[in-house]
Amino acid sequence: MNNQVILECSDLHKIYTQGDNQLHILNGVSFKIKAGETIGIMGSSGSGKSTLLHVLAGLDKATSGEIILDNKRIQDLSDSQICKLRNLNLGFIYQFHHLLSEFTALENILMPLLIKGEGISKASKNLALDILGKLGLLKRQNHYPSQLSGGERQRVAIARAVINNPKIVFADEPTGNLDNQTGYQVLDIFFKLQEELHTSLVVVTHDVEVAQKTQTRYKLHNGQLTINN
Ligand code: ADP
Ligand code: MG
Repeated sequence: MNNQVILECSDLHKIYTQGDNQLHILNGVSFKIKAGETIGIMGSSGSGKSTLLHVLAGLDKATSGEIILDNKRIQDLSDSQICKLRNLNLGFIYQFHHLLSEFTALENILMPLLIKGEGISKASKNLALDILGKLGLLKRQNHYPSQLSGGERQRVAIARAVINNPKIVFADEPTGNLDNQTGYQVLDIFFKLQEELHTSLVVVTHDVEVAQKTQTRYKLHNGQLTINN
């Protein structure tokens, strides 16, 4: 791990307003993600973990505060510029796999390249197959999500998140929808892959065992992030 900061956020606030009610979900969150660093963010259900990840990944906007990704201030960018920056730098894994049901495993993995406007070259197909192999899914490349188990689907979602060689992968309770044994198997494969690819990883979880696999651990509570090592 070198010390290069890939993403830095300072004093992030996220407030949901509904009528007279204000929900202050993020209340001054500041932290840095360094190259190759693995970060675990713990917090109870409803504490704002998904909100924080979505804001960091440019999928949602903060009410105030600053995010610098790849030396660019996100709030200075247009939606399409954010989209491009995200596509080039970030991967995202959801609790529910969010695979497209009418596409095969291989096609799902290649989807970010299609969105980027790249055709599917032989090289990128080989890269996808290489990643599938590392995840133990080579024989499943032509299967549709409905033909895969929960753990297999989540591994396909992991492959899709890393196909663009992102600088940071965000994972929102990636094993929350799997039984414990399958969940830990998927995580072991995931962390091994992360080590090989040297991407930074931010994983949000309420599972202590998951968080323990990360180098830097935070707790999100009352809208604030504190170190929790
Ligand atoms: P976590 O992922 O930690 O379970 P979330 O980030 O999903 O928590 O949600 C944090 C809080 O913000 C919850 O109380 C939730 O109800 C609220 N919330 C999330 N999205 C919205 C929204 N679009 N409008 C209003 N409240 C929301
Ligand atoms: Mg959540």
